[in-house]
Amino acid sequence: MTNLLSNITPTLLMGPGPSCVFDEVYAALARPTLGHLDPYFISIMDGIKTHLQTVIGTKNNVTLPMSGTGSAGMETCFVNLIEKGDKVLVLTNGVFGKRMEDIAARLGAIVDVLECEWGTAFVPANVEEQLQKHGPYSLVAIVHAETSTGVCNPVQAIGKLVKSTGALFLVDCVTSLGGMPVTMDAWQVDALYSGTQKCLSCPPGLSPVSFSEQAVAKLLARKTKVPNWYLDLSMIINYWEGKTRAYHHTAPINMLYGLYAALDCVLQEGLPAVYERHLAVHKQLIAGLEKLGLAMYVQPEHRLPMLNTITLPAGVDEAKVRQRLLREHSIEIGAGLGPLAGKIWRIGLMGHTARAHNVEKVLAALAACIA
Ligand code: PLP
Repeated sequence: MTNLLSNITPTLLMGPGPSCVFDEVYAALARPTLGHLDPYFISIMDGIKTHLQTVIGTKNNVTLPMSGTGSAGMETCFVNLIEKGDKVLVLTNGVFGKRMEDIAARLGAIVDVLECEWGTAFVPANVEEQLQKHGPYSLVAIVHAETSTGVCNPVQAIGKLVKSTGALFLVDCVTSLGGMPVTMDAWQVDALYSGTQKCLSCPPGLSPVSFSEQAVAKLLARKTKVPNWYLDLSMIINYWEGKTRAYHHTAPINMLYGLYAALDCVLQEGLPAVYERHLAVHKQLIAGLEKLGLAMYVQPEHRLPMLNTITLPAGVDEAKVRQRLLREHSIEIGAGLGPLAGKIWRIGLMGHTARAHNVEKVLAALAACIA
């Protein structure tokens, strides 16, 4: 009988995630599985928490990886912080802002949406106007690095405005974390979530989440139970915190080893060096794309280093190029999502993928496929 796993050939993952996985992470995934209440495993959990606090830029006690992908982190923040009838503002300029709107509405929140043109970043003055005219809100949510468009939103400036109104500030850092500066406490963010499969270069499966004291206070003061049992942080923190370490669900032990190793890789290299590496390969990619006559979709000042969106050249069959890249060069890049399907390509330079030799490879392969 053929073992399908023995026929997997490595692909250079240059799409919007997952990214290439660190060798140290693959090795960590294969370490012996321990019990989820084993004291040695608990010391690894404590190590993950400390590493996460450093990478996220927070002293928040409630900082832990949720079991599930980035969407589980998104849902965790909303189900724990929203009660039916709460007034919520979602700042949307891409697919993942839309997903936030959907989740908040399903929870019975009164959802206001401020949308700005996809491919552009929010202007803080417009957010301020919305807060003044239509607030107060109990929670304001935004995506830091909008993976569907390649835009970086000015989270720090918006945080200042949101916090002056007393609202909770929720930020999606799925794509930004570990690839560009994220400083949760300095940016006055109350709830933040991320994912493992982007700049942390771990396989998909965990979602780091952090809650400020104000967010925890809101959770503990709820009039109603958190509507989702699996993501109820008021129970999960009893496993990640304190002396009792009460069982909630069986932790994905080996995935947590992988996250520990990934965070260790990032911190060994050093956050400033990691951010510089992402920026350097981003500039290298853009210079090469311009030489090929390809244009970027986002204006320079709002571009993400780890997710590059390219306007499709006229007359090119975008799906065919992606198929050839995969089949002939073993390189995966991403297509446009939602309204941008068929209009852009997305090239990810995330984590371990963000290396000069990978940029050279994708540029050479793209040149061959477009020609
Ligand atoms: N938020 C952003 C900005 C993302 O890029 C993604 C995934 O690409 C998600 C949320 C959802 O994460 P996942 O697909 O891991 O559930």
